Amino acid sequence: MEFLTECNKCGKCKETCPGYQAFLKESFSPRGRLRLAKALQEKEILYDESLKKRFFSCLLCGSCETSCPLNINITSILYRARTESKKTLLQYLFKYFSLYPHIFFSILSILNRFDKFMSIINLPYFNRISSLEIKPQSNSLQVHSKVKPAGRIAIFLGCTSKYLIPSITEALIYILNWLNYEVIVPKQHCCGAPLLSAGFEKEAKNLAIKNLEVYKSFNIDGILTPCPTCAHFIGDVYKELIGEKLKVLKLADLFREKDREISGQYKGNAFFHISCHTSNYVKDSDDILSLLQKFGYNAQKKTGCCGFGGLFSFLFEKQSMDILRKKVLEYEKADMIISSCPNCIIQFKLAMKNKKIVHYAEAIEKILKGAKNGRAF
Ligand code: SF4
Ligand code: SF4
Repeated sequence: MEFLTECNKCGKCKETCPGYQAFLKESFSPRGRLRLAKALQEKEILYDESLKKRFFSCLLCGSCETSCPLNINITSILYRARTESKKTLLQYLFKYFSLYPHIFFSILSILNRFDKFMSIINLPYFNRISSLEIKPQSNSLQVHSKVKPAGRIAIFLGCTSKYLIPSITEALIYILNWLNYEVIVPKQHCCGAPLLSAGFEKEAKNLAIKNLEVYKSFNIDGILTPCPTCAHFIGDVYKELIGEKLKVLKLADLFREKDREISGQYKGNAFFHISCHTSNYVKDSDDILSLLQKFGYNAQKKTGCCGFGGLFSFLFEKQSMDILRKKVLEYEKADMIISSCPNCIIQFKLAMKNKKIVHYAEAIEKILKGAKNGRAF
């Protein structure tokens, strides 16, 4: 195991780290975790449970990398440190969830019919999804054609938008068809982010290779995904894992090529929640915000972690909920939350059951459908 050691200990990474803010201990900060990884590499310390807790309490949000003046790839170091861990039952559960998500979500869709049973077992993830309607989705190829298309775009769904909020996918297909693109939704696998976060690097690489094979077999202009975690993973992390990545497009760029005017006006108080992976990796939030404004959403820009963090919310439910509670207070005055990430939506729905929370693709689709029917929104 090799770790970078050139950290100058300036502490800039601590200021924005949600993991540090949840635990308020140096060893739970990015700088502290790097120091521990180095100590482990130099065999000063052993890989015990306490150390594992420090490595796994990172939400992999990337804020530290954005603020680090030396551009240290902190999450890569933490991924590597996690790979070395002794695996637990929960980690193996994560592994099988990522390898066979359709089986996992089919079981959940059955369990979800038994509310009382779900409330007795009281597992964090079950709580998160109990308010959603889980529909087993087809994993076969879908093609949404146009007569003279401007191009062909493939969608990478991501497990949340595929199994838990399929309305996001439907919105994305509608928008792309409206923009005159032929849309294909290939048979696909999980991007592999949950696998790598749980310490299964070899298995994450295998999924990356499979997804690469699937998408490269189509003649496409690029890939669009509603999930910024998937976008970062297939567009950046794949390059580190297998030396090759997929071409990820940005929705705002596709609209830029169009000069069709659409008007709409949302009169309520809308907040645009920008997820950590949108802020720190995909970096298209200003373009999405401009797009939302063009479509009549005078949305306020909001950043900051929702507390989900995938595996983090399973392992550190209390801290995950503490982070979420701060967001609930911050978003109290919003009539609608427009999120850049499906996973943040799942997290928000846990604590803001009566609030309107949508993905930006759904918000845009609503305006387009209103315009088609001759109505202002
Ligand atoms: S990725 Fe996020 S949670 Fe993890 S160390 Fe960096 S800032 Fe903290
Ligand atoms: S910001 Fe970068 S250089 Fe500064 S303490 Fe954090 S990891 Fe080290």
